[in-house]
Amino acid sequence: MSRNPKPTAEELKFVYRLVLNGSEDSDILAEYARLYEAGRLMFPYRSDKRFIRECRKTLEAALEVAQEHLKKQVDPTIVKRREEHFTDLADVAKSLLANGLASVSSPGWTTNQSHQAKYLLPSANAASGYDEMTKEQLASQLNSNMATILKEKDWFFRYCFIPHLKSELSEELQTGLFSKTVDEQPYELIETLIVLAARGIFKGTCPVCEDWSSG
Ligand SMILES: [Zn+2]
Repeated sequence: MSRNPKPTAEELKFVYRLVLNGSEDSDILAEYARLYEAGRLMFPYRSDKRFIRECRKTLEAALEVAQEHLKKQVDPTIVKRREEHFTDLADVAKSLLANGLASVSSPGWTTNQSHQAKYLLPSANAASGYDEMTKEQLASQLNSNMATILKEKDWFFRYCFIPHLKSELSEELQTGLFSKTVDEQPYELIETLIVLAARGIFKGTCPVCEDWSSG
């Protein structure tokens, strides 16, 4: 007797459907035989119950894990809380970009000269004009926006927003002090914040959401 060939994905689906419909091992083998006799079996002919038992075991293990996973994915309370959490985080990103920072642009000087570089902010006074800002002024505006947020949301900012934000930053910036990043790379930070505010979806976890992930 030849060795049992490995089942294809199609064959596994065939067996899994029968298992989920409540078929016994012998019923499934009978189905193989019926199709074989009718010349319609698309898989190797099988008559060994051990193969069916193996399939059953694999399916049950996968189902158990998949059900745990799906339960967390579709649990309406968790879905809702995650949405609210992301909205709160996006609101912080937007608040950090207040006072025009959401529209800041860089004319393209190299960052080596960034202490002299001028960034452009749409002018609050003229309809079509721009205000020029230095890196220090950008950092100062960011720090000022941050101070406003900290008055109301100190804990959330430190323990939720920062960890989520850091998981979006380069490795170098992840380990550094946030205040140092603000001072040294305000424009890069603003670019990341603009993406996050628009996307409204955050990587990483924090003490609020760590149990909601499905890992
Ligand atoms: Zn979180």
